[in-house]
Amino acid sequence: MPVSGLPPYDSQNIFARILRGEIPCRKVFENEFALAFHDINPQAPVHVLVIPKGPYCSFADFAATAPEADIAGFFRTVGTVAKDLGLEAPGYRMLANMGEHSGQEVPHFHVHLFGGRPLGRMIP
Ligand code: IMP
Repeated sequence: MPVSGLPPYDSQNIFARILRGEIPCRKVFENEFALAFHDINPQAPVHVLVIPKGPYCSFADFAATAPEADIAGFFRTVGTVAKDLGLEAPGYRMLANMGEHSGQEVPHFHVHLFGGRPLGRMIP
């Protein structure tokens, strides 16, 4: 069971299917740690999702159970993707929804990258 208390990993979730190439995506970047692609319903001029390749339901599961090299590789990749998209100098927002109260829709851990315009403050 996921440490997050979410249901067991669903290998048919949409991001798992994208990782297997069963559903197309607008790919931005891929390496051994992660796949980055454009969100299908962008909330900013740049809205990219970065997902790890392993079967992690949420951030909590990824942080608690992934090998440390995979965690480091994943988050370094998030930074590289943001930089390559030209977001680093003007700035950007990264966000991960985790579990029910966050409204997480897709049960495969993902980081959102938003940028391309001033985003305003958002807390929470
Ligand atoms: P969550 O609410 O943090 O789980 O975000 C899920 C995100 O996945 C939303 O922003 C959706 O627009 C996005 N999404 C859902 N299906 C697809 C798809 O097939 N391709 C790209 N993005 C998707």
